[in-house]
This record gives sequence, C-alpha cells and structure tokens, in this order.
Amino acid sequence: MRVELVDLAAQYQSIRGEIDGAIRRILDNTSFILGDEVRSFEAAWAQHVGAAGAVGVSSGTAALELSLRALDIGPGDEVITTAHTFIATAEAITNVGARPVFADIDPVTYNLDPSHVEDLITDRTRAIMPVHLYGQPADLDALMEIAERRGLWVIEDAAQAHGAEVGGRRCGSIGHLACFSFYPGKNLGAYGDAGAVTGNDGALLDRIRRMRDHGRTTKYEHVEVGYAERIDALQAAILGAKLPHLEAWTEARRRHADRYDELLSGADVVIPAVRDGVRHVYHLYVVRSERRDALLEHLKAAEVMAGIHYPIPLHRQPAYVALGYGDVSLPHTERAAAEVLSLPIYPELPDDALRYVADTVRAFPA
Ligand SMILES: *Cc1c(COP(=O)(O)O)cnc(C)c1O
Repeated sequence: MRVELVDLAAQYQSIRGEIDGAIRRILDNTSFILGDEVRSFEAAWAQHVGAAGAVGVSSGTAALELSLRALDIGPGDEVITTAHTFIATAEAITNVGARPVFADIDPVTYNLDPSHVEDLITDRTRAIMPVHLYGQPADLDALMEIAERRGLWVIEDAAQAHGAEVGGRRCGSIGHLACFSFYPGKNLGAYGDAGAVTGNDGALLDRIRRMRDHGRTTKYEHVEVGYAERIDALQAAILGAKLPHLEAWTEARRRHADRYDELLSGADVVIPAVRDGVRHVYHLYVVRSERRDALLEHLKAAEVMAGIHYPIPLHRQPAYVALGYGDVSLPHTERAAAEVLSLPIYPELPDDALRYVADTVRAFPA
C-alpha cells in the first residue's frame, strides 16, 4: 500500500462545492486585491485565534518579516530563535538586517529551551522568536516571563500551530505578535502562498496593515516606504471557506496521533511527548530513532512516504555557514536533526493506511 506524507486532493474533494463557490465569487465580483473577502477572513481568523486582530499577508515568511519591521528590528539587533525549524524563521531575521542567535532545543519537545535563550541575551537582543514546532506550543509561559523581565519582544512563529493551545489560550494570542503560514500543506492551507500576523496591539497591527500595502493610508498617500505583501483575495476567500472545517480537521489529526501512539507503543522509536496543559495540533507526527536513515529506507521500500523535518540545522546550512555560523554548537538540535522522522499524517488519512504505516515501523528489524 502506498501512503503519502500528505494528501491535499482528498481534502479538496471533500469540500469541492464550497471552494469552487468561493473562487467563483471572486471571479464574478473582480475584487482581487484586499476588499471585503480579505477583511472578513481576517476577522474570522482573529476570532479563531482569540487575538484582537489579524492582518492577511502574502506568506508566513512575509508575516515574520513585517512583524520584525513593525517592531523596528534591523541592523545591529539580535533575535534569539531556534535552528531546528524551516529556514524562513531565520531568513526573516537576516533579511531585515538583524542577526539570528540560535538557542538549543529541549530534546523532548524539540522546542526552544528557555534557559538557553536566557543565557544568550545581550545588549543587542531585541526579541525572542519561538517556533511552535510540529504543532506543539513552545514554552510561552517561560519565554514571556523572560521577555517581560528583560524588556524583549516575543514574536511567535505559529506557522505549524493553527488552533494549538497552551493553558487554554491559543498560539497567536500570547506573544506581542504572531505569524501564521497558510502554505498549502499547513493545517489551514491556501491554494498558493498566504499568511497572517495576529496580535493584541492595535497600533502594531495597523502598522503591519499599512506596510503590507506600500505604506499606504489612503489611495494616494504613503506615510512610509512599505511592501507589496498583501494576501490575495482569492486565497482569503478559499481560506474563509476552509476555516469552518479546521476544528474537525484538527481533531482528526489528534485522533490519528493517538492511534499512532497506541500502535507504536513498544516499537523501537520514540513517540512524540506532549507537555502538560498544551493542545498539540500535529502538523507533523514526528518519531525519533538512532537508526533514522535506515528506518526511512525501510519505510520507502514499503511505499510509506516519510519525511525529515529538518535534516540540516540552520547553523549548518551553507547559507548560514557563509554568514559565520560554522562554529556554533547546539548538541540537542544536531542530534534531533539526525534522528527525527515524520510519519504520514493529514485529517483524511484512512485508518487502514495509518495501521499499515505503524505495522511497517514495527516490522523494522531491531
Ligand atoms: C511554513 C513555515 C514558514 C514559512 O511560511 P511560508 O508561508 O511558506 O512563507 C515559517 N516558519 C515555519 C516554522 C514554517 O513551517
């Protein structure tokens, strides 16, 4: 049986009428840039997150960059983040002219280790950028406490954490700003690039709303030099049609994760550990094995398409080695990069496919 890592077609087939209707609406009203569809998705997204507001932007990466710019973070500044993430997290920091400083992860949750973050704070540190990796919230209580005590901003990279919660509050409503990606494979995915910034500070969100649209306040007045980083109205309409389904999709992911936990108990892999008091939304179901590469080959031979998120830590990427990060040492990050493996998970994953994946993992010779 062939099992893909994700299957975007299954989801489209299940809500085809609603999606096609949303697309047709935009084609008919020709409101392609901003407008009512964008405003109404932003309001719905802010409400889903439990934040005061949301600004739709062109990608998760744009959300991160605009957040840093809105906080006037740039050359000479440092932002502490993780190297065990997709490169966009650090790219945004580098591209505004600031310097990412990589803290090590907690080897159990794969999220930033707050005590290492605190050790790395200098006079130049302006912000902490935690990633809620794989859909599990980072330790925001500890990070917000450090940030408040040390006078820093917290920008959540919530690109993998739609609907995730910590202490009953949703990711995206806790940091000073938070960034979502609606890249097609994310838990809430557009049919192209899209993202959003959420937060509770109206002035900051207003600035981001202006910056994404050429620094414009009215049609012809530009109060600052901005960017062309608006969310597409087509994508906003598609996301608006999908959003009412997100909770059910998230619950399906969580059920699949429980099934994997159960079927893999006793198998020769480490299953995900969930911190007390958090709601993990399983953007990815990640196991770990000291023989990861052999396990990946074993799965591939059985047509189980597993993935690795992420095989090369950012400080070891050629792009960052070239920027002088070659001597950085992050033992837990480096070990995770060598041992993690993502098993297929998506809301529509059939139970027989899930069982086949688990059986194939269990059949991996010890
Ligand atoms: C997907 C992702 C991003 C980037 O989002 P895009 O919409 O692809 O620009 C940033 N950070 C993390 C952790 C991601 O998973």
